[in-house]
This record gives sequence, structure tokens and C-alpha cells, in this order.
Amino acid sequence: MPDNRQPTTARRASSYRRLLRFARPYAGRLVLGGICGALFAGSSVGFLPVLRTNFAAIFDYERADLARALLGAALLPLLALVRGAGEYLSAYLIQWVGNRVVMDLRVEAYTHLQNLSVAYFDQNKTGEMISRTVNDTSLLEHAVSTVLTDLVRQPLLIAGGAAYLLALNWRLTLAGLVLFPLSVLPVVVFGKKVRAWARQGQERLADIVSIMQESIAGVRIVKAFNMEAEELRRFAAQCRSFFGRVMRVVRAKAIVEPLVVLMASLGIVCAMAYAGLTRMPFEDFVTFGLGLVLLFDPAKRLGRLHLSIQQSSAAADRIFEVLDADIAVRDRPGAAALAGPVREIRFENVGFSYHAEPVLRGINAEIRHNDRVALVGSSGAGKTTLVNLLPRFFDVTEGRIVINGCDIRDASLASLRALFGLVTQETFLFNDSVANNIAYGAREAGRARIEEAARRAHAHEFIMAMPAGYDTVIGERGVRLSGGQRQRLAIARAVMRDPPVLILDEATSALDTESERQVQAALNELMEGRTVFAIAHRLSTLAHCNRVLVLDAGRVAEEGSHEELYARDGIYRRLYDLQFEGMIPDAAARNGDRRSEEGRR
Ligand code: ADP
Ligand code: MG
Repeated sequence: MPDNRQPTTARRASSYRRLLRFARPYAGRLVLGGICGALFAGSSVGFLPVLRTNFAAIFDYERADLARALLGAALLPLLALVRGAGEYLSAYLIQWVGNRVVMDLRVEAYTHLQNLSVAYFDQNKTGEMISRTVNDTSLLEHAVSTVLTDLVRQPLLIAGGAAYLLALNWRLTLAGLVLFPLSVLPVVVFGKKVRAWARQGQERLADIVSIMQESIAGVRIVKAFNMEAEELRRFAAQCRSFFGRVMRVVRAKAIVEPLVVLMASLGIVCAMAYAGLTRMPFEDFVTFGLGLVLLFDPAKRLGRLHLSIQQSSAAADRIFEVLDADIAVRDRPGAAALAGPVREIRFENVGFSYHAEPVLRGINAEIRHNDRVALVGSSGAGKTTLVNLLPRFFDVTEGRIVINGCDIRDASLASLRALFGLVTQETFLFNDSVANNIAYGAREAGRARIEEAARRAHAHEFIMAMPAGYDTVIGERGVRLSGGQRQRLAIARAVMRDPPVLILDEATSALDTESERQVQAALNELMEGRTVFAIAHRLSTLAHCNRVLVLDAGRVAEEGSHEELYARDGIYRRLYDLQFEGMIPDAAARNGDRRSEEGRR
């Protein structure tokens, strides 16, 4: 994600404006909440004159008309009722809007994440993305709700209260107004720091989530390498660091109130001296004191408000960074659907680079209907990259890929991706039933079709042996299944989809010989009647391909049938011989039992 640790004031202002845009649909509620807030503020200030009048009436014992005085006092509960209703309704309405805006933001951030290209997910940590959509939106919840509630109530209360106090005794009030900014000074000073620390704290939190996510996803590796202690150390270090940032924020926020109280008490001493000197009437002085108490809490809240806004605007920045991440791969306006059978796929001078260094260069190839293309090359040659360009996980950086005469960047993404079935080395299974995993992307499919797909993927038998058959819930990442079983579920998923073009990227590479045989049998059935791109480092598994493209350092080095390339005595011959001459002990051992079979080719 772009580095924006020090957003400018302009940026921050635009963050607020964007937040407001999210609140716009609920303007009605906001206005109503504002009116209720005004009711609350008005009735709060209203207490002052009513109290003062009552003080004068009741405590003037010489000329007391107790009945009349008590009648006046009955106004107080009435005021309290209005104030309470305003308080309740403004809190409810405005927090409704706040929580609703946060919900909309979350959904919007998730939607945007779904639309971002694969490259974004390569470049950003999973935990960080999760933290931004979950934690940062929660922080914002605080801002949008609490801050807005205070914003509609407190300024009005302060203005009304101050106006009344001015009318009561303008000298004393003016003196207070001069002293007031002094007590706000610490708020301003600490505000900047809190903002910076809060942002750092959120970043640490994202790191913590990242570490957890990694060590949970890689639990086997962690255990196998005895790295529990090291992972714990990393985790604890991040937690300590986060704790440090949080405590800085806590200290900065906690110091503000004592300072404000100190200033206020100094003010009270001055006011008492002034009252004594000017022989102020008792009810005036008490009302003035009550007025200060009434204003004190709103002033304190406004002070905290400033800090809260600082803190949460950091969260807003981070969410908007997600929302602003460029969707690199998207539909062109008016993109048409690719329809009909795939007659030909042409690579025209295709070049690609992830960063500066080109990974693919000048790839030219023409694949026709029902071709079975084996992509061969050493590790890092660019095979995976090449097939990832087909469903536009990445866009070519040079040249173009054309399907049925149409540049794939002119076709709609949905129609393009529907053409491809993908089986890779790493199978992702959702934490859901076997049936739903097979029918992923085809949720409306009936059980009969799912079973048929499983049968063709040679998966039916082991599924039926599971406790609840097709309704068995498989754990996250399918941990309760063997590699070969997972792979056959992935193949069943591809069968369901019935794609015209199949991409097999090392689909059997992680498997032992026995599972590989079963999976290969399933794959052979799946390949029937489709155009196939197959990548496998065990060349023996590519026997069903009629064409071979040999990639070397991002270029097509050789092209032809197995026989032609083997006869040519080039890279392909070398790779092939290497696997069967026992040069790679591991591969040779696994392939040993098939050597005689290969000899026949
Ligand atoms: P192969 O599948 O033939 O083993 P790849 O297509 O995976 O090769 O990788 C080709 C080159 O591109 C390698 O040098 C690899 O380091 C690089 N590469 C692969 N994926 C990425 C990525 N997501 N970001 C940056 N570089 C990558
Ligand atoms: Mg690869």
C-alpha cells in the first residue's frame, strides 16, 4: 500500500469530505439528530435562568411566597424531560448513521478488495488487508458516532451557556473566555502526537494479525522447523511494540483532563475573589458556578473530540487507501462477452514483467481448438506467469493475447474467465461441505450433477467413505484430506464448470506416485475434448500433449511435438534425459517404476 504516514491537511480534509459523502444518504436522520441535539442543548442552558429565578424566590426567606416559588420549581422536571428526550433521540439517530456508514464502508472495502487484481494481493499482506477492513472501520465507528453526537450537542450548549453567562455578568464571563483557550492548549499540543502514535499503533496491530495469519496458515512448517519459540518471539515483540504505542496514546489522552481541571480550579479561585470584591448577589454567583459546571463537561468533550478526530482520521486514511488502490485489471467500457467455442488462442509478441525485470519476452504462439500444449522449462522460466495471463490475473505489458480474433482485454472479464478451468499445485478448499466445494461457482447445481462430476474426477469413492459423504464439512484449507484427494476435488470442481480451456499448473507435482496415478487418470478424463495448457516438471505426465512449448528465461526456445524436440537435441532433450538418467535422484526414484513405459514413447 502506498506510504502515507504523513498525510497533508488537504488530504485529511478530503478524507472528512469523503466520509461525509458516505453519510449523505442518511442526511435526513442526521438533520433530525441535529434538531434533537439542539433541543438537548437548549433545555440544558434553560436550567440556568429557571434555577436562578427559583433561587431568588425560595431563598429570599423574608418575603417568601413558598407556593409560587414551588410552582416555578416544577418547571425543572419538565425541562429535564425535554432534555432527556433530546439526548436519547440525538444519540440514537446519530449513532445509527455512524454505524450504518461504517457498515457501508466495510462492504465497500470488501467489494473493492474483491475487484483488485491478483498483483495487489501479491504485494500486500493478508493480515493488513483484514485489519484495514475490520479494525480501522471499528475505529471510525467511534469517530462517526461519538464525534457527531458531541458535535451536534456541545457547541450549541457552550454558545447558549456562554451567552447567558455574559448577560448575567459579562466581566466575569469574559475573563473566563480569555482563560478558556489556555486550558485548551494541552489539547492542541497532544493532538498531533496522538494522531501519529495512533497510526503507528494501527500498523503494529496489522502486523500482529499478519504474523498470526502466517503462523496459522503455515502451522505445519512452523512445527516441523521447531520455530514455535521464534514465532512467539516475533509475535510478542510486535505485541510489545503495539503496547508501547497504545500506552503513549493513553498517556497523552489521560494528561489532558488533569490539566484542564487544574486550569478550571484556578479560574474558580479568581471568580470567588471577584465576587467577594464586587458584592455579587448570591443567586448570581451560584448560577454562575452552575453555568461553569454545565459548560465544563461539553468543553472537556470538545477537547477530547479533537483528539478522537485526529485518531480516527488516521483510520479513515487507511481505509481510503484500500478504496483508492487501483483496479489494474478491469473491464473496458463496453467490453463484450466472449462467446462460442474457443477456436484459437494467439500470443502475439507477448511480453510481461512483474516489476522492472521482464519475465516473458516476445512470446508468439498459436494454439488451436483441442490442442494440448505442454509448457516445459526449468523452474522460474515463466510457465506459471504465461498461463496466468490467460484469465487476466495479470495483464500483458507488451503485445497481446487474442482469443477468436478478440484481444482478451476487450472481452468482459466474467466471460473470459468462464472459459478457463484451473487446477494448480495448491488447491484451495473452503470450510464448507464437499458438495459445496465441488459446486463452487455453480451453487444452483443439483446433487446428481455434483456426484457425476465427482465420479469423473475419481473422487466419488473416497467421498462416500467420509462420515457424512457429500455433506462432510472439510476444514479450512482441506486439512483433513490427503493431497491427492484435495486435488481430485479440485478436478471435480473443474468438471462442474465444464470449461473449454483447461490450465493444469503442476497439478500432480506435489503428489506421491500412487495419488499421482489416480489424479492423472482423473485429469485425462477432464482433458477430453478441451484445449489444454499443461505444466508439469515430471515430463512423463505430459504424455497426452500433442505440442510442446519449451520456455527458457521468458522466451519460447523450442516448439514442436515430443518426437521432434527429442530428436533436435536441445533444451528439451537435456531436460528429458536429465529426468531419466538418474541425475535427479529423487525424480529418478519416483519415475523408476515407469521407465519401461516411457521407453515405448
Ligand atoms: P515457473 O512457473 O516457470 O517456475 P514463474 O512464472 O512462476 O516460473 O516465474 C517466472 C519469474 O517471475 C521468476 O523469476 C519469478 O521469480 C518471477 N515471479 C513469479 N511470480 C511473481 C510475482 N508474483 N511477483 C514478482 N515476480 C514473480
Ligand atoms: Mg510455476
